[in-house]
Amino acid sequence: MLYINGQWCDAHSNQTFEVKNPATGDIVASVAKGDAVDAEAAITAAQAALQSWGKKTAKERYAYMKKAADILRSRTDEIAELVTREMGKPVAEAKGELGLAIDYLDWYAEEGKRIYGDTIPASATNKRIIVIRQPIGVVGAITPWNFPLAMITRKVAPAIAAGCTIVLKAASATPLSAIEIFKAFDEAGLPPGVVNLVNGSASAVVGAMMKSPVVRKITFTGSTEVGKELVRQSADTMKKVSMELGGNAPFLVFEDADLEKAAEGAIASKFRNAGQTCVCTNRIYVQKSVAKKFAEIIAEKMKLLVVGNGLDAGVNIGPLIDNQAIEKVEDQIADAMSKGATLISGGSRLMEGELAKGTFFQPTVLLHTTQEMKISREETFGPVAPIFEFETEEEVIQKANDTEFGLASYVFTQNLSRMFRVAEALEYGIVGINDPLPTVAQAPFGGVKESGVGREGGKYGIEDYLDYKFLSIQLEI
Ligand code: NAP
Repeated sequence: MLYINGQWCDAHSNQTFEVKNPATGDIVASVAKGDAVDAEAAITAAQAALQSWGKKTAKERYAYMKKAADILRSRTDEIAELVTREMGKPVAEAKGELGLAIDYLDWYAEEGKRIYGDTIPASATNKRIIVIRQPIGVVGAITPWNFPLAMITRKVAPAIAAGCTIVLKAASATPLSAIEIFKAFDEAGLPPGVVNLVNGSASAVVGAMMKSPVVRKITFTGSTEVGKELVRQSADTMKKVSMELGGNAPFLVFEDADLEKAAEGAIASKFRNAGQTCVCTNRIYVQKSVAKKFAEIIAEKMKLLVVGNGLDAGVNIGPLIDNQAIEKVEDQIADAMSKGATLISGGSRLMEGELAKGTFFQPTVLLHTTQEMKISREETFGPVAPIFEFETEEEVIQKANDTEFGLASYVFTQNLSRMFRVAEALEYGIVGINDPLPTVAQAPFGGVKESGVGREGGKYGIEDYLDYKFLSIQLEI
């Protein structure tokens, strides 16, 4: 179903598309496939709702958002299971993601109360300068499948807290998770048109958003390739853009690190969501003097990873999203092996028994990987951990920065001076220092270079949905 102007509806064309469970190949549901006509209807509804929503007090907006958050909280088990059936991540991870999705609603419900302006000393005694903050207007949002809940609230929560209205298109792999979030908005009683959901054809729905002069801001999370195209398209109507794009995260392990903790961290960061997160470790750099020991610890800990259907107890790695994802991983492994890498564990698609119905891949470790291999240049988005060796701090900083991406990076060391030296030299928006999982609602998430523009989360995330207005007042004094 689409959600337009406070109503659940079919696509105007009556077209639908199917959602497939990547663990079993089963069809989970058939959902409405929106197009440009549906998107235009949603944009019109969002425009009509903008004035009255913008005039509500922060406290009124807070009440709606808190209610939606509470509804989602009360449905944790059923929503988490749905996420697992729709895109494969283990139920425990899906619950964790829902917790984060709710955190964004809770946090921005409060932050909406702190949208402050300024007064500025004027240049004349009879003048006063005041700066007020106002909602930017109607927002177009596009989200990916790998965090099908949290990527939605990370956009919708700051947008509506700022007084904007929004039209969102979720990934075609995960429309059902999006529908659950919008059900909560509906049940919380948000006024018609404030939030609208139009799933369906990416080119048609997003195309309508990009063409519309009413849509003043585009917020996108997804691949760098699509992000660049949307930035180009946004030029015609000069939209403000936020782009949360791909990553190629380096994970640096120095000889003074706690190797046990570093290995646990590398596994947590590399294999979460089967390696399908934008902040997943992509390249593990280990100082030569401890590389052998580190590889042994990793190999031992990896024995604890259980691949399977995320609904089954004990499973901590689910399937990849589709066959294309498997092919990308296979291609990167073959390329690395042909250039001298050594396979330590894994390396193949899992085809035994029930697993053959899904898109499962063995957790894989490669040694002797180098900068020339595809795996060091491209985002892997799969459960493959390549281990690179380095000798000096200077060398590893150069190698870590040798990429067009700049989203997340990780440093494991117990030397305080090195922590700061290295963290400050890394060209990344996020540095996890002895911390493999840094994402929280109150901190700024986002990248530099081709990983994007703008930040989501925290006081920084609401800025993107606000404009400044300068009031110059002449008085009779
Ligand atoms: P994607 O292919 O770029 O798709 C993302 C969204 O864009 C989906 O809703 C998709 O719709 C839509 N889309 C696809 N092609 C489009 C086009 N030509 N015009 C307009 N919209 C289009 O990315 P994905 O495979 O879903 O997600 C994985 C990527 O997202 C990875 O690169 C990952 O690093 C990145 N990501 C980044 C962050 C971050 O915060 N930086 C967070 C999560 C993921 P359809 O599904 O209908 O094709």
